[in-house]
Amino acid sequence: MAPTLDAPLKTGAVIGILGGGQLGRMLSVAAARLGFKTCVYEPAGDCPASHVANFHMHAAYDDVQALERFARSVDVITYEFENIPTSALDILENLRPIRPNREALRISQDRITEKDFLTSLGLTVAPYANVESAADLDAAIAKIGTPAILKTRRFGYDGKGQARIKSPEDAAQAWVDMADAPSVLEGFVDFTHEVSVIGARSADGDVACFDPGENVHRGGILHSTTVPATLTASQRMDAVLLTANILNALDYVGVMGVELFVTRGGLIVNEIAPRVHNSGHWTQNGCAVDQFEQHIRAVAGWPLGDGVRHSDVVMENLIGDDMDRVEAIARESNAALHLYGKADVKAGRKMGHVNRIKKG
Ligand code: AMP
Repeated sequence: MAPTLDAPLKTGAVIGILGGGQLGRMLSVAAARLGFKTCVYEPAGDCPASHVANFHMHAAYDDVQALERFARSVDVITYEFENIPTSALDILENLRPIRPNREALRISQDRITEKDFLTSLGLTVAPYANVESAADLDAAIAKIGTPAILKTRRFGYDGKGQARIKSPEDAAQAWVDMADAPSVLEGFVDFTHEVSVIGARSADGDVACFDPGENVHRGGILHSTTVPATLTASQRMDAVLLTANILNALDYVGVMGVELFVTRGGLIVNEIAPRVHNSGHWTQNGCAVDQFEQHIRAVAGWPLGDGVRHSDVVMENLIGDDMDRVEAIARESNAALHLYGKADVKAGRKMGHVNRIKKG
């Protein structure tokens, strides 16, 4: 039997976080503000979360002894990314509660499983088909048509592991790009814009959603999130209710990001992420309780906090050379800088973000 948390965690309890990137860093800061300690498990040495967490377990995901030591030194385990190896979870789940639960991870680790699940809830997703060979891809294109996008079923992020198919002639090259990885063909959605909802569910089953944010991507990577998003009242309601539907169906505990395409025919779910989400960073300066604290509260068995938006915010990611602008941004009024402490600037690497408050 997997262990459970029977009572809310008290000050001084240790929250274990799998993954030591910027999300783990901001989760650690939020945990510290509530009096918790954090232990980050991350194979890379000088990682963003290690600068602020109490403990850093610097070990690989196949190091059984390190995983056991980590689990025994924490009260509850959470994570900042969804692609945690199943073998590591098998070890951890026998020792400490994992929040959000493994079912949420299982579903979100595979794009087909995720789309099947969302469809089973009555939600709309892009037309999709499983592709495991060049012949499958031809058949999928015949069924779905073009334009379409071929994506690896697993391990994709920030637009990686994706190939656009404008016409059937692009199929052969697209399949080569996937390097034989099981994939999904998705029909291209003719959306007007993209929004996301950051939802939270407590261990008691209470659900609270942050105001939807409007997302702009550049080169497959999130560039900015603006709140409030351009949505009608009924679209806003729909976005929040479908997020609650997903959270409840999974008996979820923690924060989840739900990415949506806004089309003339309604909202289409692009993908779900069982963790705090880049498009929720605006909450740090737009709400009394941000997504990181909300997640820590949920994971610790606490009640959810007040995530009502008090300000309009535009969040801009600082990627690669955007770091050259930090000095100028630091002089702006109403701009809150959040830098991740990454030593090396690389093209496409998320180095930090800025939240510009538009209205007090
Ligand atoms: P993803 O990694 O699935 O979130 O895709 C990254 C970005 O590619 C999305 O935010 C969209 O801008 C675009 N995209 C992904 N899937 C589709 C689709 N089926 N139709 C149109 N655009 C898409």
